[in-house]
Amino acid sequence: MYNIKSTKSSEFMDNEEIEATLRYAEENRENRALIRRILEKAGEAKGLPHREAAVLLACADEELNREILALARRLKEAFYGSRVVMFAPLYLSNYCVNGCAYCPYHVGNKRIPRKKLTQEEIAAEAEALQDMGHKRLALEAGEDPVNNPIDYILDSIRTIYSARHKNGAIRRANVNIAATTEENYAKLRNAGIGTYILFQETYNRENYEKLHLSGPKSGYAWHTEAMDRAMRAGVDDVGLGALFGLSGYKYEFAGLLMHTEHLEAVFGVGAHTISVPRVRPADDVDSNRFQGGLSDEAFAKLVACIRVAAPYAGIIISTRENEETRARLLSVGVSQISGGSRTGVGSYAGGAGSKNTEQFEISDDRSLEEVVAWLIDSGHIPSFCTACYREGRTGDRFMSLCKSGQIHNCCTPNALLTLREYLLDYAGPSVRAAGEALIESEAGKVPNLKAREVLSKRLKEVSAGARDLRF
Ligand code: SF4
Repeated sequence: MYNIKSTKSSEFMDNEEIEATLRYAEENRENRALIRRILEKAGEAKGLPHREAAVLLACADEELNREILALARRLKEAFYGSRVVMFAPLYLSNYCVNGCAYCPYHVGNKRIPRKKLTQEEIAAEAEALQDMGHKRLALEAGEDPVNNPIDYILDSIRTIYSARHKNGAIRRANVNIAATTEENYAKLRNAGIGTYILFQETYNRENYEKLHLSGPKSGYAWHTEAMDRAMRAGVDDVGLGALFGLSGYKYEFAGLLMHTEHLEAVFGVGAHTISVPRVRPADDVDSNRFQGGLSDEAFAKLVACIRVAAPYAGIIISTRENEETRARLLSVGVSQISGGSRTGVGSYAGGAGSKNTEQFEISDDRSLEEVVAWLIDSGHIPSFCTACYREGRTGDRFMSLCKSGQIHNCCTPNALLTLREYLLDYAGPSVRAAGEALIESEAGKVPNLKAREVLSKRLKEVSAGARDLRF
C-alpha cells in the first residue's frame, strides 16, 4: 500500500504504485490536452509529481517532445544559469563483500587485483587531484567491514581535507559508500562530508534481489531506507541515482521521483542531486545480461524529464558517457560533470598496484583542462565553487536559495571567482585567455548592482593571490 510518509520502503516505494504510474503514462502518452496541461504546470518551475512526470516521459508526440526538451533547457538556465559544477571521483578501496552482478568489485571476482589506499597514498591522490585543479571529490569505496570500516573512511576524509599542495585544497568531499547505520551516518556528518551519495541501482525489488545475491547490500529494504537513516542522522544533502540499464528506465524514473518526493514529505528536503549512470562494460561483468538499455535519444529525454520534474536538483553525469552525449545532456538539464576522472584505486598519483583496479571503462578520457576548455568554448562556466557547503547552506537552506532564484547573484559570481582561481593556478595560456574573456562577459550580466560590485572587488583579490576557502 503506497504511503509517501511511511518509513518502510515497501510502502513509500510501493511496486503497485510504480506499475499504476507506468500504466497511467502509457494510457495517456498521446493525450495532447493532458500533456499540454502538465507542461504548463511544469513551466511554473515547482516540479511535478511522479505520475504527471511519467506521462511526459512516455509522450509519443514529436512536437510535444521538442517542447519538453525546450522547457528542460529553460528551467536549467533559470536555476543554474550556464554554470557547470566540476568534480572527480576518488577510489579509496575496491575490497567488497557484496555480490552485485554489474560491478567488477563483486566478491566473486577473483581476477581483479584488490587494493586499499593507505593514508599516505590518499594524501598523494588528493595532491594529484589538487594539481589538476579539482576542489570537489566524490569518495568511492566498496563495502567491507574488515578492510574498509567506517573509521577508515573517516580517517580518509580527514587526510583529504588536510592535504594542501601549492594553492590547492579539496573543499568538499562527497561520499559514496554502502548503506550504513544511523550512528555511522552521524559520524560522516561530523566529519564534514558534502553530499552522501547512494545509488539505488534499481528500484525494481524483484530485479534488485536477482542482481544482489549476497552481502549486506542484498537487503532491498536496508538499501532503500538508507537515505532516511542518513537524514535522521543529520546528513541533509543526499544524492540519489539509478544505474540505467538494469531494469526498464521508465520504472527507475518513477522510482527516483517517488524517492525524492518521500524525502521531501518526511524531512522537508528532497534529493540534492540525482545521478544518471548507464551500465558500462567492466571486468567480469556480462553487460549483455541486462535488458534495460536505452538509446541516446531516450536518455536525453529522460534527463530532460528529471530536470522538469525536479527543477532544483543537481543532475550529475560522469565520464561513463562520451563527449557527444555529455554535450547533449548538458543542454537538457545536467548541471554537474566529472572531468579528468580515473576509476582505479590510486590511479591519479599512479602508485604501484593501481593497474587493472578500475570499476568501469570511461568513455570521456580528456584531461580536466580539456573539459574546462570545451565547456568555455560552448559558453558554459566551469565552476569549482563549494561555497554553499562552506557557508552551511545545505539541505533546506540551499533549496531556499535555489527556489528564490537568487543564484544568479550568488552562484554565478562564485563560479566566476573559482574559475579565475583555476585559470591562474592550473590552466595553460590559451585556456586562460578564453576563460578570462568568458569571465569578463559573464560578470557584466550579474543582475544585481551590489553583487556585481562585490564580484569585481573579489576578482581583483583573487588575481592578487587571495584563495578563499569559502568559495
Ligand atoms: S557496486 Fe558497490 S557494493 Fe556492489 S560490488 Fe561494487 S563496490 Fe561492492
